[in-house]
Amino acid sequence: MAVLAHPDDEALACGGTLARAADAGAAVVVVCASRGEMGSLSDPALAPDGDLGRARALELSASAAELGVGEVVLLDHPDGSLRWADGLGEELAALLRRVRPQAVITFDADGLYWHPDHVGVHEWTTRAVLLLGAEAPALYYVTLPAGAVRGLCEAAHARGGSPPGAALWGISPDAFGALAPPSGFRVDVRDQAARKLAALRHHHTQAGAGSPFRWASEEDARAWLGVELFRRAPTATAFGDVLEHLADGAGDNMEGGAREASGNVPAGGEGGPVAGSAGGPVTVRGSGPVAVRAGGPGGARDGLDDPPSGGPVA
Ligand SMILES: [Zn+2]
Repeated sequence: MAVLAHPDDEALACGGTLARAADAGAAVVVVCASRGEMGSLSDPALAPDGDLGRARALELSASAAELGVGEVVLLDHPDGSLRWADGLGEELAALLRRVRPQAVITFDADGLYWHPDHVGVHEWTTRAVLLLGAEAPALYYVTLPAGAVRGLCEAAHARGGSPPGAALWGISPDAFGALAPPSGFRVDVRDQAARKLAALRHHHTQAGAGSPFRWASEEDARAWLGVELFRRAPTATAFGDVLEHLADGAGDNMEGGAREASGNVPAGGEGGPVAGSAGGPVTVRGSGPVAVRAGGPGGARDGLDDPPSGGPVA
């Protein structure tokens, strides 16, 4: 189960790992705390009724299907104030009790680029996991390799995209991952990078004409989106290694941008034993129906009750 803040976080932060887990037979659940209604809008025609949150919920469904996510739980807390969201911790705890995942992924304390909503989801998710005591799933914090977004922007610019120094969602490309705590291990998702890029492109409202996600090639994605960084939270759990089975080994097989961008991973971090890159199957218990669910007073949600197409639940 991945617990994130806005539609598109699932793709950018950990889309490759979610796809790898799904490919290995895991029932992957994405929980999104808001509809992202305060985000950017690349083209007003994409939200003709002015309901950006509704448009982004549909984009989340498409992205999740691309990644093989079996269930999307879309909560409806106000975008922009998740750190103070009423009841979010209790909702997450209830979801954990229902889904009973082996592993939970959420943002690390840096919130990818110190986004207050991301930091808030990191805090609420940690608290919800702690509430489960010894029954808790293994908790993993994800962040981006420093320099990866900058590298992707430069590669995209070489193909016609906006200049690499241009803001991405109003944020400097250098901010992504810049303040991340040292990671424990990295997951090689180069083979999933094309799907990760496709998932990002499903977020049309967030990826306009000059967006690096529009211009980057699959090779660029493999180089710059092909590594995801994790740190195991020091929380009690009934589970041993889960994501560690997907961990890249010493990194000798990394190449190009991915290797360069993942250079902040220390050997022997706190992520526990590091398995070979081939990894093993990850199973995440969870038999709930495939559905996008409104979690609050969200108003009209036409079309959101349909399951994401092609999202298998193992
Ligand atoms: Zn976000």
